[in-house]
Amino acid sequence: MLIVCEQLSKTYRADAAVVQAVADVNLEVAGGDFVVILGHSGSGKTTLLSLIGGLTSPDHGIVRIHGRDNWGSGDTALSLLRNRTIGFIFQFASLIPTLTALENVLLPLYFQKRTAKRKERALDLLAAVGLTGKAGAYPAQLSGGQQRRVAIARAFINEPEIILADEPTGDLDEETEADILTMFARFHQQGTTFLVVTHNAHLAVTQRNSRILHMKNGRLAYGQA
Ligand code: ADP
Ligand code: MG
Repeated sequence: MLIVCEQLSKTYRADAAVVQAVADVNLEVAGGDFVVILGHSGSGKTTLLSLIGGLTSPDHGIVRIHGRDNWGSGDTALSLLRNRTIGFIFQFASLIPTLTALENVLLPLYFQKRTAKRKERALDLLAAVGLTGKAGAYPAQLSGGQQRRVAIARAFINEPEIILADEPTGDLDEETEADILTMFARFHQQGTTFLVVTHNAHLAVTQRNSRILHMKNGRLAYGQA
């Protein structure tokens, strides 16, 4: 099994308030799966994705990727996991403002010293997200939706086995959303595993062969919510 979550829990404490963002989640994602987790705002989707991607540590439970415990393998293994195995699409674009679109897409490769060979791939990815001709633009010169598309291209640059996507089509118009979903389908066909969280039911039904789960109050339900 590629991704396994066992009794995963995460609680936030701010002053007197205690929020159990993720509550006792068990989840198995096989290599090549396309999983969509649907839930309203505040249901714990972003927190769950952060736990799986090794960006947040759980209070209880375990995340295993390829059988290896995210938090039991040391910082180097966790960094490699985040840099090589996983491509993240965050809810907000999070581009570096002083780098061009092309440089932002190439950024994950700077840690690997393989930049030169991958420029072509980066340009292909920018084309796939509909940004041909924008390679030299800086984030401030791009619309919110275009910035998001650069961030989507960036997630694929390392040819990650797993894509973790948080509201990937959040602020995109319908046509651009369709382009992005076509791109996802293409990578899925090539074997990439997807875990997408969204409040957008439309995304779940559009993607063929996807497995749809529902999240509510930090809990995953395997039927209708
Ligand atoms: P979703 O992505 O489904 O909107 P989140 O995982 O962002 O849900 O949030 C789940 C719950 O945890 C919400 O009630 C939210 O307010 C709370 N929460 C999220 N992040 C934090 C944080 N850093 N500190 C305190 N509470 C948080
Ligand atoms: Mg969220």
